[in-house]
Order: sequence, then structure tokens, then C-alpha cells
Amino acid sequence: MSTDTQDTLQKFIFDNAAVRGEFVEISTTWREIQQHHNYPDAVKTVLGEMVAAAALLSANLKFNGAIIMQIHGDGPVRLLVVECDSELRLRATAKIRDGAEIADGSGLTALLNQSGKGRFVITLDPIDKMPGQQPYQGIVPLDGDDMATVIENYMLRSEQLDTRLWLAADPGISRGLLLQKLPRHSGKEDQVAQKSEAEDLETWNRAVMLASTLKQPELLSTDIQTLMNRLFWEETIRVFEPAHPQFHCSCTREKVGNMLKMLGRDEVEGALDELGQLAINCDFCGKHYAFDKVDCAQLFVGNSPVDVLIPASDVKH
Ligand SMILES: [Zn+2]
Repeated sequence: MSTDTQDTLQKFIFDNAAVRGEFVEISTTWREIQQHHNYPDAVKTVLGEMVAAAALLSANLKFNGAIIMQIHGDGPVRLLVVECDSELRLRATAKIRDGAEIADGSGLTALLNQSGKGRFVITLDPIDKMPGQQPYQGIVPLDGDDMATVIENYMLRSEQLDTRLWLAADPGISRGLLLQKLPRHSGKEDQVAQKSEAEDLETWNRAVMLASTLKQPELLSTDIQTLMNRLFWEETIRVFEPAHPQFHCSCTREKVGNMLKMLGRDEVEGALDELGQLAINCDFCGKHYAFDKVDCAQLFVGNSPVDVLIPASDVKH
């Protein structure tokens, strides 16, 4: 099979039941995400799973904007960030603590939650915000030993939605399956609504049972179409037009400038005295930004508001 197959997100719904699903398969985008980094394999696994999860959750965003998932870790990994917008444009990065040693096969807890102080942050950031509207942000403890469980617990707690995820990633591919039991609407015309809750629950339990036969090695090595046939061949399923995740970095010179402004004039001038100019590489895409003395002086002219959600990168000293 060709290695440059398009990345795909495939939504489907169980006929006549309020149960929906999505498969995602991210390969080209996943490799672009890792292009400027040399993460240990264990970090690739966790970050790759988070990438698949972000795509699965964003495919259901009810606004035009982005979902930003962050894990602030207390172990060798300090931070994982994945952003995905409503058009399934993705970027992601990991920050590892200086000098940290990471053993192969280290899982989520060993990497990010050694003392139980890891935090999972989800931000929903609409593009067209009302004046003064802040992005929605939910912060919860890292509740679970793997990425799928953490997100399932988050969804249950924050959205009151039964959601199950199966995630797997290696350096070459990131794949995931999401099942979700939808709340029932009371519309009478709706064919879906005519079936009883009990029947929904039956379909839900059966779908989860079938999907739970899926082990990570199989998920890693099998394409979406084959997985769909293998798991749900006895089910009546409606499949939607596939969508295609892709890599996109939203960094701009202006955002990097804002980040420098947030550091403050003293910090920036101190670094300039030492280095002559500031060189900043975007953590997500590797793009290089340079700010000399004149550029920096301009940053601190006037008092334009600063609006940066996540620092794009660290200043390199
Ligand atoms: Zn960038």
C-alpha cells in the first residue's frame, strides 16, 4: 500500500439508534508534526494518541474554531499540546524536562503523572468570539492510566456523554476509534427518536463490546475500511463522506511578538544585550523568527493588548 495515502476521518452512525462513531487515521500529518523533533518513542506514542483523540473530538465541534488539548505533566514530560480546528487542521508539540531520561514503553502515568499532579486542560476556542468572550477552558486531573481513559472520563464529567475511545500510535501512524451514545431528542418526525432508550442502550453496549475486541497492535496495523468491516459487519451502519486531517501551523510573526511582549521589556532588553538579536523557532512547525533591537523596540511602542493563549515557543538563549 502507498505510504502517502490521505489522512482520513470517517464518521458513521448506527442506523436507527442514537449511537455514532468515528475512525481516524493520521499518517502524513503525524509525520509532519514530528519533523522538527526527535522525541523518544514513548513520547511519540502518547502524543500520537492525543493527536488522534483531538481529531476525533474536533470533528464534532459545534462552532467554527479550535480545540486545544494540553497535558501539564509532573514527570519527565512537562507539556503535551495538540490543537485541531473545525477543518481538522492539526499541530502538536511535546516539551520534555531538561535531562529527563525516558525508558522505552513508559506510559502516560510514568511520563506525565508520577505524583498525581498531572493536569488535563481542554480549551474550546471559537474564531468569531463575541466582544469580551473568553475561550471555554476545562481543567481536570489526569484521571486514568492511558490517553483514552483520561478523555473518556473528561467527556463523561464535562459533557455528560458516554464516550469510548480506542487509540494507538507509533512513529508512522496514529489511529483511533470513537463511539458515542448521543442524548435522545424528543422530535417526533425523527426516525432516530422513535426507538426507545432501551434499544439505544442495547446498540451502544453491543458496539462497545465489538470495539473492545480491538487491541492496539491490530488498530495500528489495519486500515479503517478493514477495521469497520471486521468489527461491525453485522451492524447496519450509515457512513458519511470522509474528511481529511492535515498539518497546519497558525504561528505568525505577530503572535511571536506578542509572546515577547508578555515576557516584558526588561527581560527582552536583557536578552538583546546578551545576544544581539532574538531567535525564536516555532515549536510546532520549526519556522524561524528573528527580532533585532529595532523590532523589539517597536513591540513596546504603544499599549496594544496582548492576547496569547499558549506561548508559541521558548526564547532560545
Ligand atoms: Zn509554527
